[in-house]
Amino acid sequence: MTDGYKNLETNLIHAGERTPRIEGAVNLPIFQSSTYEYSGDDSEQDLRYIRLNNTPNHLVLHRKLAVLENAEDALVTSSGMAAISTALLSVLEAGDHLLIQDCLYGGTHTFIRDDFKSMGLSFDFIDGQAPETWKEKLKPRTKAIYVEALTNPLLQIADHTAVTAFAREHGLVSLIDNTFASPVNFHPADRGFDIILHSCSKYLNGHSDVVAGALIGKAELVEKAALKLIRLGGTLDPHACFLLHRGIKTLAVRVRHQNAGALSLARFLENHPAVKQVNYPGLPSHSRHKEATELFDGFGGMLSFELKDGAEKAKRFLDKIQLGIIAPSLGGVETLLTRPATTSHHTLSPEARRRLGISDGLIRLSVGLESAEDIQADLDHALGA
Ligand SMILES: *Cc1c(COP(=O)(O)O)cnc(C)c1O
Repeated sequence: MTDGYKNLETNLIHAGERTPRIEGAVNLPIFQSSTYEYSGDDSEQDLRYIRLNNTPNHLVLHRKLAVLENAEDALVTSSGMAAISTALLSVLEAGDHLLIQDCLYGGTHTFIRDDFKSMGLSFDFIDGQAPETWKEKLKPRTKAIYVEALTNPLLQIADHTAVTAFAREHGLVSLIDNTFASPVNFHPADRGFDIILHSCSKYLNGHSDVVAGALIGKAELVEKAALKLIRLGGTLDPHACFLLHRGIKTLAVRVRHQNAGALSLARFLENHPAVKQVNYPGLPSHSRHKEATELFDGFGGMLSFELKDGAEKAKRFLDKIQLGIIAPSLGGVETLLTRPATTSHHTLSPEARRRLGISDGLIRLSVGLESAEDIQADLDHALGA
């Protein structure tokens, strides 16, 4: 097996690949077999079966993802939510308590809100940008702290250095959802995070044609989560493994192009008379621009903005968009736009959205790989309407 090279671009293509290549095939074929011949050993380790996450298509991805995140081990899952729920359920037991950032991916929010109680788990929200307020929320059974690299949809940035320092000081497992940044822009393991989560449905696959997830980090934690995943059953199918493997190879060129496109569109929107505010960490007007410059290698392909005339104007704006596609999800080759109040955050109550600063007129933009000039012309036309 080929292990890590010095640079990410090379690792995307070569890390974890089988040597020698199987039948000389340049690309790892799809092993469409649920079960495998048993070598005769007594050990359970010897069984190979798709749900055990140990087919050749899984193993290559595990090694590659671990190398990409500078971590010890990795596990792919059937969705981002499978990675998140499996990680939390492998770290927490009945009676345990979790500290979790207040502005979260909608699915993660509803998982802790609606499912924790019946499993005997509890949580408190924390303001990721106010580390001085975390200590008062600690409980004797607090076991973990959970944040997102960049929050959805406001692109806020928690004090990530403080998160891992706090976790070390209080013996907590630190978890981070790194979906929005991708391993091209941010390496949480280098900052001391124990478990890194991804919805691979987004940037890692990058083509809006697969749902998959990953859980990456310290070997002992990944191993525990892998046993939990076998029981919960959130396994990625070999065909989806193949598509994800193929998508990952172009991650660096895609994300860097999206970084550049998003920065130029954020600047354009910030100077547009119809726009009230733009949320993008690459703009000096972002409240944590300085920290973002220090933490990240790029500011990402996601931004959100608010129109001066609120929700009605936002609806009209989306009606006029022609090139961009009005659809949830993100991180693909095509530009996607949504109104989070009606998509990713519709399960939150209107008060909860207001408290988090997600207005009904907020628009989220996932910048694709089209020419930024064409995307800008589309936005400009729709804003003028
Ligand atoms: C999409 C997303 C998820 C959930 O991923 P699925 O693959 O849809 O299950 C989790 N976190 C973030 C930040 C996401 O954008």
